Amino acid sequence: MSLKRLNFFNRLIHITSDDSDESRRRQLLNIILLGVIVLTIILMAILIIYLLANRQQTASNDIKLIFIVAGGLLLGTAGIYFLNRYVRRGIASIVFLVFFVIIFNFADSPDQLANGRSIILFSIPIVMASILLKPYLSFIFAAIVSLDIILLALWIDSPPNFPAITVFFLLALLSWLAARSLDQALHELRRTNATLDQLVQERTRQLEKSLSRERIEAGRNQAILESIADGVIVFDVTGTVINANPALLQLLEREPQEVKGMNVNDLTRSRSMDARNRGILAGLLTNPGQQGTSYRISWKKKTLSVTSSQVFSTEGVHIGTVAVFRDFTREAEIERMKNTFLAVVSHELRTPLNSVLGYAEMLKEAIYGPINEKQIHAADRIISNSSRLLSIINDLLDQAQIEAGRLIIHPSPFKLAELIKNVHEVLDKLSQDKGLVLTSGCDPRLPDTIVGDQVRLQQILINLINNSIKFTRQGSIHFRAVWHDRKHWRLEVQDSGIGIPQEELSRIFDSFHQVNGTASRESGGFGLGLSIVKQLAGLMGGSVTAVSKVGEGSLFTVLLPLDTQKAGK
Ligand code: ADP
Repeated sequence: MSLKRLNFFNRLIHITSDDSDESRRRQLLNIILLGVIVLTIILMAILIIYLLANRQQTASNDIKLIFIVAGGLLLGTAGIYFLNRYVRRGIASIVFLVFFVIIFNFADSPDQLANGRSIILFSIPIVMASILLKPYLSFIFAAIVSLDIILLALWIDSPPNFPAITVFFLLALLSWLAARSLDQALHELRRTNATLDQLVQERTRQLEKSLSRERIEAGRNQAILESIADGVIVFDVTGTVINANPALLQLLEREPQEVKGMNVNDLTRSRSMDARNRGILAGLLTNPGQQGTSYRISWKKKTLSVTSSQVFSTEGVHIGTVAVFRDFTREAEIERMKNTFLAVVSHELRTPLNSVLGYAEMLKEAIYGPINEKQIHAADRIISNSSRLLSIINDLLDQAQIEAGRLIIHPSPFKLAELIKNVHEVLDKLSQDKGLVLTSGCDPRLPDTIVGDQVRLQQILINLINNSIKFTRQGSIHFRAVWHDRKHWRLEVQDSGIGIPQEELSRIFDSFHQVNGTASRESGGFGLGLSIVKQLAGLMGGSVTAVSKVGEGSLFTVLLPLDTQKAGK
């Protein structure tokens, strides 16, 4: 059947009503009515064919009667159909059932209707009453049709068919049960549907709420991102750009549409970046640590400080990488100028100072003729103050070189004993002058010869021991080389000095930092010694730590990688 015809049929039987039960019953009645109309038409067609074939044997009265009954049936059914569609279902159903009971009375001889083959016809309204009207109405129709067949039996003088009446009531009971169960099941289904509808509505509302909350949150985050002065770029897990703020576009001199959808390689393939910087940036973006690590790169004429870190969802799933670009050009330029200035000034100061020192020593040694006690004392003062000045200048120079990345470590095999001996030679007198004892030791587990930059290691030790001498009034200072593990060794300097307050320990390695309220200022110094030690240790692949107790002393430990390969054990 084509879709069009199906639609027409649907429209014929379909009736809309607020009550779904009501519309179901009305549609059911429509189906039955249409069925009856179709059946009557088919029967009439068959009958016409039959009559045309047997024209002589059929009485014209019979034919008339048949057509009158069929016509009445069609008219009556059509009338009920309109009643059902436009008036009320209850009335239409009752009229339909009563109409059929009446029609059945003419469908056969009274004898056959009351006791014979056609008695079965009366069961139809009983079943239909329970389906089309209320379930209990099957009993009413059982009573109506029972009364009907009793009257028919009385009319033809035969006893009423009580077994048939009993069967009618039994059928009414079954119909009642079936229709009631169906009603209850439908009721349950409707209730479940209503609950489900409510649930769906509730969920939809919740979803809407959380979606709008997320939209607001996302909008706020975007606004924050756009107002950040530093350039921020976000990559997804595949390395594709998913967001970049205006500051970044300005820094990289790119258009928004250029950057969206770009991947890490496209971004680092800039012609204005040399291979080294490209490598650093690619490494930063493709393999960032969990904590942001910052690197400087040169891009076009700018120096950028880039920090990148991985982004994790609240469930701990890796969802991408975020990189922050800061324009460091001005700071880098100032830093470069400062370093150049420091290097030049230090160099220019060192040369005349060395010559002052040299001449003072020659004077003291009486190379230019004999000198008296007072003159020796003056020469001593010149020598000690010039030495102090020279050491400050050396520190400044070292600091400038380290910051400029120009200080290079030269590892080569050396004897530990020699290192220790050299330190004694430089500092024994200074400690003795202060009434302190400087002792040393070397762990026998350490090889005699190890690989390292002896000059810089000596500088580390001298700086640390110098501090110990400065900040120890009485007692001893001990330094030693200690085996740590298969891959590390330690240099330790321990004193019984004034100690460092706990809260200062983390800052003493910062440049130009001195502990307040200690003898730092009077003891000379600049606050650079420990910073240089830390940076030298870092350049050697090691680290420096300090433990201290005020009034009891301090212990400085430099942990270094143990390289014996070239030296041999
Ligand atoms: P400075 O040139 O002032 O000695 P450093 O960087 O060497 O600079 O040391 C920083 C500060 O740390 C010192 O000023 C001092 O206050 C403190 N300090 C360093 N070593 C010791 C020590 N052995 N005992 C006590 N305080 C120390």
